Amino acid sequence: MRIDIITLFPEMCEKVMSESIIGRARKKGAIEVVCHQLRDFALDKHKKVDDTTYGGGMGMLMKAEPIALCIESICADIGKKPRCIFMSPKGKTLTQEKLRELLEYDCITILCGHYEGVDQRVLDEFIDEEISIGDYVLTGGELPALVLADSLSRLVPGVLSDDLCFSEESHFAGLLEYPQYTKPAVWRGVEIPEILISGHHANIEKWRRQKSLEETYKKRPDMLESAVLTEEDKKYLRSISENN
Ligand code: SAM
Repeated sequence: MRIDIITLFPEMCEKVMSESIIGRARKKGAIEVVCHQLRDFALDKHKKVDDTTYGGGMGMLMKAEPIALCIESICADIGKKPRCIFMSPKGKTLTQEKLRELLEYDCITILCGHYEGVDQRVLDEFIDEEISIGDYVLTGGELPALVLADSLSRLVPGVLSDDLCFSEESHFAGLLEYPQYTKPAVWRGVEIPEILISGHHANIEKWRRQKSLEETYKKRPDMLESAVLTEEDKKYLRSISENN
């Protein structure tokens, strides 16, 4: 997958996308990330990318033409129009389901807004969807774009060492993940659950499923409404609710 990020702060995006797992995935070619400096597409000698808002009002707005030129140069580079996403508090909130949907595209371009936002005409012309990372407002779209690029990249085959890394994680299968423990087995007098060193894989799987149900029941009961549950899961949930 190729991810293009259009931003006024490419160094910030480049830095984050060069670290750890994502950085290694880029090096081995599992994903390609290209960060574009929007100012390179400004038309005047001052590299101006923003201007005042028609109709009055506070703050500046990002101009249409530099954004259009940048997206058109990406289209020319990859030979087609990528899926174009604008990070915006007006968009649909990002979910794991949305990430799975986006995995179907091999090229994604993310536009980061700044100031008061972006001239509506360029959004209408190029943007396929707006995505929000939550009901609050940040100063710019870089952090939201990085949240999207990171969470999407780790689902691309070859980025994580094993698909199991995410298939049992919170949200992947509609439940939260079970609690996990690492060495030492006794930390400040607190022991890990004995079953985890029993070597009995079926029992460990059963325990993990039950703990996953328990975590979801306690922390995100709303998720249980749409989770795919077996009769055994439902019975276990009934026993938890009776004991609470
Ligand atoms: N005036 C805009 C509004 O009320 O919708 C908010 C502009 S915000 C200060 C600047 C930029 O930050 C936005 O254009 C967007 O790209 C980004 N942004 C801010 N909050 C966001 C959020 N919750 N999710 C995604 N992007 C966000």
